[in-house]
Amino acid sequence: MKKWVYFFGAGKAEGDGEWRDLLGGKGAGLAEMTKIGLPVPAGFTISTEACDYYYKNGKKYPAELKKQVAANVERLEKVTRKKLGDPKNPLLVSVRSGSARSMPGMMETILNLGLNDRSVAGLASVTKNERFAYDAYRRFVQMYSTVVMEMPKEDLEHRLRAMKGRLGVKDDTAVPASGWKELVAEYKALFRQKAGKDFPADPIDQLWGAIGAVFGSWMAEKAVTYRRVEKITGLLGTAVNVVQMVFGNTGENSGTGVCFTRDPSSGEKTFYGDYLSNAQGEDVVAGIRTPMPLREMARSMPKVYAQLEKVRVKLEKHYRDMQDMEFTVEDGKLYMLQTRTGKRTPAAAFRIAVDMANERLISREDAIQRIKAEDIERLFYPVIDSKVDRKSLEARKLAAGINAVPGAAVGKVVFSAQDAEAWAERGEKVILVRRETSPEDVGGMAVAQGILTATGGKTSHAAVVARGWGKCCVVGAESLDIDYKSGTMSANGKVVKQGEWITLDGSEGVVYTGEMPLVTPEFPKSYGTLMKWADAVRRLRVRTNADTPQDARKAREFGAEGIGLCRTEHMFFTDFEHPEKSHERQRAIQEMILADTKESRVKALDKLLPFQRRDFIGIFRAMDGFPVTIRLIDPPLHEFVPHDRAKQEELARELNLDVETVARRVEQLHEANPMLGHRGCRLSITYPEILEMQVRAIIEGAIESQNQGVKVLPEIMHPLTLDRKELSILEQATRRVADELIKKSGAKLPYLVGTMIELPRAALLANEIAEVAEFFSYGTNDLTQTTMGLSRDDAGRFLPDYVDEKKAGIFAADPFQSLDTKGVGMLMRWGIEKGRETRPKLKVGICGEHGGDADSVKFCHALAMDYVSASPFRVPIARLAAAQAVIQEKLERAKKHK
Ligand code: PEP
Ligand code: MG
Repeated sequence: MKKWVYFFGAGKAEGDGEWRDLLGGKGAGLAEMTKIGLPVPAGFTISTEACDYYYKNGKKYPAELKKQVAANVERLEKVTRKKLGDPKNPLLVSVRSGSARSMPGMMETILNLGLNDRSVAGLASVTKNERFAYDAYRRFVQMYSTVVMEMPKEDLEHRLRAMKGRLGVKDDTAVPASGWKELVAEYKALFRQKAGKDFPADPIDQLWGAIGAVFGSWMAEKAVTYRRVEKITGLLGTAVNVVQMVFGNTGENSGTGVCFTRDPSSGEKTFYGDYLSNAQGEDVVAGIRTPMPLREMARSMPKVYAQLEKVRVKLEKHYRDMQDMEFTVEDGKLYMLQTRTGKRTPAAAFRIAVDMANERLISREDAIQRIKAEDIERLFYPVIDSKVDRKSLEARKLAAGINAVPGAAVGKVVFSAQDAEAWAERGEKVILVRRETSPEDVGGMAVAQGILTATGGKTSHAAVVARGWGKCCVVGAESLDIDYKSGTMSANGKVVKQGEWITLDGSEGVVYTGEMPLVTPEFPKSYGTLMKWADAVRRLRVRTNADTPQDARKAREFGAEGIGLCRTEHMFFTDFEHPEKSHERQRAIQEMILADTKESRVKALDKLLPFQRRDFIGIFRAMDGFPVTIRLIDPPLHEFVPHDRAKQEELARELNLDVETVARRVEQLHEANPMLGHRGCRLSITYPEILEMQVRAIIEGAIESQNQGVKVLPEIMHPLTLDRKELSILEQATRRVADELIKKSGAKLPYLVGTMIELPRAALLANEIAEVAEFFSYGTNDLTQTTMGLSRDDAGRFLPDYVDEKKAGIFAADPFQSLDTKGVGMLMRWGIEKGRETRPKLKVGICGEHGGDADSVKFCHALAMDYVSASPFRVPIARLAAAQAVIQEKLERAKKHK
């Protein structure tokens, strides 16, 4: 018989911490914590396979499940020595979701299950606290009604408020038992009215209702959205954890908390968290009350705190990673309810990985594996420019709160997630301001620059979600008075309306009015250390795509080891050193294009030559000692000339031509399908004088740089080649110009001539092309476009549907972002193999956008490429991914060996 349910309790567990896919993170954690002897309440986990079965079989449970749940309930009753529904000493359980990947607050939870009119009296008598028992009962009925019956929360909360009004009390804690009793009756009447049946009294019926609701929550809109935003795919479903209830709200000697084994914001090795006395776990996570820092617990409950500290050490040693734990103290006794790998800021991810490797808790390779491409991307949080003086900052201070996620953000205030999405869609920068956030808000949170809430602590929903994204977040700004209706918030004598600018400082936890200038800070120390470790491991070289000396210098700072693609045509448009002089070069290229004889073309090209040469010298200098691949002109010529009449007139005037001539020439250049038109190396076949000028600029620039003591390694690259003979004509022309210049100068200048592989035909005939080319560089932007028959400029209109699992879901990722390893990858593999059959030492790289995509870089490693080339800011991502590729390969080999 298939096993669907896994028990844990009394120091033993049927499950295992490794079985996250089967038991979900929470279930696996509970099993593991039980096994290593931590104080965990007993319970059982219904596997994710049952959820998968449920959805694959028209929302029906597996046949054996009923029996297995019944047997496990019995076992739980034995271990706890309590019975569900017992009028004397009832067992109560919590029912919680938990999938293999953490989805904070996304799915449903029901607490205090097992209470009914009879058992509530039992609870009151064992706890000697009638008020507590009826409070627990009303919480249960409230949760069950909203979660299982999906009754609007407001319908119930409004009755709660009305009841408090009648009693003249403000806080829930001031409501007497009779008040709760009355409320339970009201809730039940409402339930009967809405559901058309009585509130279930039988705990087993209650349990099945809850199990159904947890499974149902897996496919709820908010959970599906969260998985999409977080790119979570391939999971079976959610598990259901049924666990003995323990109570943090039985008095001042009880409480509940969430803590991290290290600081999730900075990564510092301190015990960190929130504690709420006399409260249930949901109160902390929901952020409704503002908790106190964990260290205060050391004073108020020193014994429990010491025990918790021991748990912290044990769990970190056991899991070898920073843990995020939930605990409850019931009458001075500590219970661990959950442990999971803690979400952290990117800076903390680096610091924790490096510290743990230095502490020998993990290896350096583990540390490298723990960093994600996004961590690097998000590492460099902007902060408020220190030029803004303290005084004016102080004057603009609106409110102070808790610094949940560091960095700074500016944007216009919106008060709802829907507005955030709508405004962001229009290109506006927004800050989402809420009293508290809930999982429904994730769409709006994702598009906001920053998030501000009036309530909640560092582990509230807003804080946890924002931290995962590395998004600036301030919570618990309690002085803020938010009025959703009028679309305003006020504090400190200031009023801010919807649409007005504010600035958040997530590092200090302060909110300012107005739009402050932000700057991006330096890399943290641990970043440098970890990247050094990654560089020592990787085999792939990492170059950069850069067209200017500035970009080249920037890329060197990011660790680039040469240039993999310099798009020379960008130099025709802009003078990056002297932008005000760009006009000169633009006119020269236009003159060249409009010329009707070779002579006049050459004359125009001669004007361009010094510009190009100067740019190349700057680039060679920035890349001293590293190879520089320079690609000759690539785009179709029509891109360089104006298409509107006024600009054509201006051009005609400056070049002393008549406007009709200009218009006619532009018209002649028009192509129905320019991407497959007269472009790439075909331009140099037609106009060899362009090639001659560019090669001259490269070689003269190289010789001059060499004379100045710079070590130059030029690689001249022809784009969009489709044939051996074609490349051979260009190669000979290139060498003729280059060799003559070198000879004349008396210099010794080794250089390479190679090609981009951007067309399927070039990849297929790579063995022939490699007879001529000394290197290949895969131009995967064009190769993807031409292999898939999808326009790189237009496919964005429908590709989102192709990637969206809820729509067509045809591709796992946008093929222009992450390599289509199956199709395009097959051509790449073929091309490399065939190319190296002809020329075993053929140097191969990639310079399409994919060179900065972590998964694509790993694929390039597997193809035995020599290097990848990425835009400057993505160079670190490529370095890390290249190291991870080596480590993963090693792990896989070891696994096979076993
Ligand atoms: C490519 O096609 O991948 C490439 C790098 O060239 P470009 O993007 O300039 O066409
Ligand atoms: Mg291209």
